[in-house]
Amino acid sequence: MNNKVLIVYTGGTIGMVQDEKGALTPFPMEHIYDLVPELQKCSYKIDTCQMADIIDSSNMTPSFWVDLAEIIERHYDDYDGFVVLHGTDTMAYTASALSFMFKNLTKPIVLTGSQLPMGMLRSDGRENIICALEVASCQEAYIPEVCLFFENHLYRGNRSTKVSAENFDAFCSYNYPSLAKAGIRFSFKSHLFLPKPEKPLIVRKQFDRNIAVLKLFPGITQGVVDAVLHAEGLHGVVIETFGSGNAPTEAWFINAIEDAIGRGIIVLNVTQCKAGAVIMGQYEASCELSRIGVIGGSDITLEAAVTKMMYLLGTYPNNPDHVRECLQRSLRGEITTEKSPC
Ligand code: ASP
Repeated sequence: MNNKVLIVYTGGTIGMVQDEKGALTPFPMEHIYDLVPELQKCSYKIDTCQMADIIDSSNMTPSFWVDLAEIIERHYDDYDGFVVLHGTDTMAYTASALSFMFKNLTKPIVLTGSQLPMGMLRSDGRENIICALEVASCQEAYIPEVCLFFENHLYRGNRSTKVSAENFDAFCSYNYPSLAKAGIRFSFKSHLFLPKPEKPLIVRKQFDRNIAVLKLFPGITQGVVDAVLHAEGLHGVVIETFGSGNAPTEAWFINAIEDAIGRGIIVLNVTQCKAGAVIMGQYEASCELSRIGVIGGSDITLEAAVTKMMYLLGTYPNNPDHVRECLQRSLRGEITTEKSPC
C-alpha cells in the first residue's frame, strides 16, 4: 500500500499567489496540484486541509498550536507523515511547541514555508514542499520527530531558528547537526534522530502564557528589570544573558532576580549567542545566578526555551519542582545534556 501524507496549511508566504491586481492572497489548498503539478509524480497519496483561520505567522498563539495539534492528532492513524505549511517568521516557535506537545511521536511532522510566495516565478516554496513531502512520506528513513525543512536541510524543529529575512537559506540549527540534507539524493543521518518511543502517543495541550523574556544589554535599568519581573500573573522568565550565561553582578540586579524566585517565578538562563551553551559557574558573573536558583538552559534556542517554559508551566501548574527539573534536561532532544531524552 502506498504511503499517505497530510498537508496542513496554516498561512504565511508559501501559500500566497498574486491576484489580478498584483496583491498577494492565499490560494485554496485543494488546488495545490495546479501550482505544483510535479506533485502528480509522487508515488504516495497526498491529502490537504487548512486551518479555519489562515494567518500571517506573526499572529501565532498557543491556542493556534492546540488547533493545529488537534488536526494532526485526529488524523494520526490515517497518515504516515504530516507536512505543515507555515509562515517563516514564527515557524521555529511552532516546531518547538509541537515537539513538546507530541510525546512518543512515531511519525514525522515536517514544517516548511518559503521566502517567496508560491505564485512567483523564483519561489523557493515548490522545492521546499516537494522535499518536505518526500521526507514525511519516507518510511525507510523513519523520523519520529517534529522537523523543519528549509533550503535543502532538515533540522530538528526545536533546534532551529530563523536567521535571515532575505536569503533562501533562512534557517539554521547552530547547536545540533541537520538530520538530513537534500542533494541529488537525500542523505539521512539516522544516528542523529530521536530514539523510537516504546510508549503510546500522548498529546498535551496546556500552555501557560504568563511568561516573559528579559534580554540583557549593557546599561539596562532597574526600572526595566523590575517592570518585567513584576508583570501581573508572571510565572516564568527566560533571561537572555551574555556569552556562556553571564549577567551583571550588581546587587540591585541579583536582588531583583532573587526576589522574583522567592515569589515563585521560575527563571531560566539562555545565552544571547546563536551557538554554544550556558555554563553556570564558568565565570564569576554567573555564579551568583546559580546560587540564587536560576536554572541553566544549556544550548537551548530562545524559541525552544519560550515554548518549553509555556508547556511545562501549563502542564504541571502545581508542580514547580518538576518544571524546574524538566527545564534542566532534554525532553525531545532540545538541549544537549549528559542524560538521554526521555
Ligand atoms: N510574515 C510571513 C509569515 O511568517 C513571512 C513568511 O511566511 O515567510 O507568516
